[in-house]
Amino acid sequence: MPKIYFIDVTNRDGVQTANLGLSKLEKTMINIYLNEVGIFQSEFGFPTTRHESAYLQANLELAAMGVLQPIRLSGWIRAVASDVETAFRFVPDIRHLNLSISTSPQMISAKFRGEKKREDILEMMIDAVEAAKALGADGIGVNAEDASRTDTDFLIKFASAAKEHGAQRFRYCDTLGYDDPFTLYEAVKAVAENVGIPIELHCHGDLGMAVANSVAGAKGAIDGGQDAYINTTVNGIGERAGNADLVATILAVTKSKGFADRYQLGKRINLKKAWKISKFASYAFGVPIPINQPGVGANAFAHSSGIHADGVLKDPQNYELYDLAELGRGEPEFVETGREICSGEYSGISGFRHIMGKMAIAFEDSAKAEETLELVRYANVEAQKPLVEDELLFIAKYPQVARKLLTLIPL
Ligand SMILES: [Zn+2]
Repeated sequence: MPKIYFIDVTNRDGVQTANLGLSKLEKTMINIYLNEVGIFQSEFGFPTTRHESAYLQANLELAAMGVLQPIRLSGWIRAVASDVETAFRFVPDIRHLNLSISTSPQMISAKFRGEKKREDILEMMIDAVEAAKALGADGIGVNAEDASRTDTDFLIKFASAAKEHGAQRFRYCDTLGYDDPFTLYEAVKAVAENVGIPIELHCHGDLGMAVANSVAGAKGAIDGGQDAYINTTVNGIGERAGNADLVATILAVTKSKGFADRYQLGKRINLKKAWKISKFASYAFGVPIPINQPGVGANAFAHSSGIHADGVLKDPQNYELYDLAELGRGEPEFVETGREICSGEYSGISGFRHIMGKMAIAFEDSAKAEETLELVRYANVEAQKPLVEDELLFIAKYPQVARKLLTLIPL
């Protein structure tokens, strides 16, 4: 039976969201946490964007060192052959790419100002896939942008051509969050059955259905005989109303009535990291986790009304669908309530030694401590907020990689 995998796009869709962003170190930490959760692939950035290249190369280096393994790191670019060439020029070690092009009549006519027909779209996509293969890509996915406003026959044609030329996956992008679970199920099942290609579900929440649509799409792919790859973002951060939330979607496919026992995951998921990655993304983006967020919201396991509280005290299963410990919750959190010494771009060696000493990090000599502090200062220049313990530990452990990913050289 085909299986369900997760592809997280926080470092692509999440960071391109208006008013929000992540530093290169924060993006790296997201990749590390996603790997710990057991996510199949992180769409880790934009290989044709100059300021991403040092970060992307540094993360590929972490993959080569075994730090970012087994997660796959995939770049996102337009399905244009010249963009593929630029991607390989800027990020020579890149091996996985998602190539995106609009497929709906609305976008084809309005974006290309009437200069392109459907045949041109197919041709551009094929040229991009061929270019990616020729330059050494191992994993190629093609994205049909605005798939939900594209007729299914053309999607089948598009996905068939992609498969024929060597793409391994087809991404159904409900770019505007226009589908409902029923329409999305039908469209995806038809592509799966007619093309025989694994399908990615990329859903947005403009109508509040991102998770429901993702689950329905996964069912459509599997019922059509193909593996499903659900796109998520941490805390649902993404363009406009956001994407399918990582934790909520994992919970939906592992705990819901129709999925829990019937569908299988392709990779073991470690939900115990859910709490940590959600908290980190909330801090890094500067966006609080909603009180009623599934699994990780402050109220997800809170009970006050008489009947509920009494029921939970007798047996949590009366009013809780899953256990809080499964999500990595329940441990006391250490929050400084007295004097706080934290990192900053103008930190000095004494405060820095104090912070690192609290984490039991000792340096070989003062030169090593000064060097690490310098990197921490640079990381703070970009983040503009104190680094968390894991970021400080990362810099202390991998100073060379940290130096690379903090490198920004404007033209
Ligand atoms: Zn999107």
